Amino acid sequence: MSKKLSSLIILGASGDLTSRLLLPGLGQLLDEQNERHLQLIGAGSADWSDDDFKKVVDTAFTAVDCTGPSGDHTRTTASYVNADVTDPLVLQRLIDSCDAAPAIYFALPPAVAVAACKALEQVKLPAGLTLALEKPFGTDVASAEALNAQLARLVPENQIHRVDHFLGRSTVFNLLGLRFANRMFEPIWNAEHIEKVDIVYDEQLGLEGRAGYYDTAGALIDMIQSHLLQVMAVVAMEPPSTLGADDLRDAKEIVLRATSLQGGDASASSRRARYTAGEVDGREMPAYSKEPGVVASRKTETLAEVTVQIDTWRWMGVPFTLRSGKALAERRREIAITFKKANRVPTGLTGTEHPNVLRIYLAPDKMSLELNVNGPGDPYELEKTQLEAMFGDGQLLAYREVLAGILDGDPSLSVRGDSAVEGWRIVAPVLEAWRADEVPLDSYKAGSDGPAKWTRIG
Ligand code: NDP
Repeated sequence: MSKKLSSLIILGASGDLTSRLLLPGLGQLLDEQNERHLQLIGAGSADWSDDDFKKVVDTAFTAVDCTGPSGDHTRTTASYVNADVTDPLVLQRLIDSCDAAPAIYFALPPAVAVAACKALEQVKLPAGLTLALEKPFGTDVASAEALNAQLARLVPENQIHRVDHFLGRSTVFNLLGLRFANRMFEPIWNAEHIEKVDIVYDEQLGLEGRAGYYDTAGALIDMIQSHLLQVMAVVAMEPPSTLGADDLRDAKEIVLRATSLQGGDASASSRRARYTAGEVDGREMPAYSKEPGVVASRKTETLAEVTVQIDTWRWMGVPFTLRSGKALAERRREIAITFKKANRVPTGLTGTEHPNVLRIYLAPDKMSLELNVNGPGDPYELEKTQLEAMFGDGQLLAYREVLAGILDGDPSLSVRGDSAVEGWRIVAPVLEAWRADEVPLDSYKAGSDGPAKWTRIG
């Protein structure tokens, strides 16, 4: 069988993203793709030799049981360059050393990634070059637009992958299958039948030493502006005719363009809080403000909640609430779709009628549907019951999907330039209101469900 040649350059190869997420994802991909011959070149600030980098690759590949010949080829031929990747001459040399038009992955701090893109303007670029950029993509509407324009000077849009690894999660595919392959859901997937949609991504983890990045971002930018709005777009989009990049991304973009803060009121539609010292799952956690590297006066939130509206015929009047936070009691990752109550329950049926709620859980991937049934005992008495189903095994790492898209030149699961800008547009008034202190920064004890006065969503 002839081998498919690909070259991947990782800029920032000695960083956390590379070792913890990119290389394991690559190992899993290569383990399944024996026809691929991947040339891997790492470049970074650490003073490593080729052998040092090969060891990092080997550790990551071994952790995901990558044993096939493709993985072996990459782990034995990987090379590393210790250099400043914002230097055009360095970038030219890296590109020239590739066997095939490479994909360049910017696993760099965002400002350095922007500088490296700028440097690429002085480099002779091969046709077919692919660029993969991490979040955060810009810091506001203007910078995201400027970065889009800068990238457009380098390669066409469909060769730019703005990575959102949430879109690589099997849950997003599961959602598409559930919505669009079942007659019973799509006809009621609208404002006539749905009361509200809550998308929750609560973590037990705290800062985990990432103050440098997180303290300037916070939960709103880290999670809601990018990942959760993208997931919302998949929940709310019109049925695409194919899962091709254009159809899927057009459908998401239409949702995002129609999205704005509920009632146009940033203060009333958002809440923020920060954790104080506590215990999470038996682990002592210091107050966020006392974590090394945190500047307490920045008032960075570790829990954010925003309610938006989608001004389309399908969704008029349905609130979509997006929430994410750290150091919380429960690891809760779910999309909860709450249906309106039945128009009328016949006189004679007793018990409390609960709304039907469809819950789609992320990692482990499963769903549950809450129904009112005549339970055991009194046949006239309603009880809430839950139908549960597991989705496909969901064992694939999100970055395996991300890298497959990049190496195969399929941008379906990456964020298009216009959608990246929409994400900033939607949250901009909230950021402004928070900076102006128009919304109080509440506090919650690490290991609790959030501030006591907040009502639980979902
Ligand atoms: P790190 O700081 O761990 O890694 C970046 C690497 O790039 C470091 O090794 C850094 O070296 C190196 N570097 C910085 N400037 C240069 C330069 N001019 N030339 C060569 N190397 C340079 O960051 P992460 O890996 O955590 O993150 C990278 C990107 O991925 C960020 O955009 C982040 O937001 C995103 N991301 C990260 C995730 C994670 O879990 N880590 C998850 C999702 C996204 P040095 O340390 O010496 O400066």
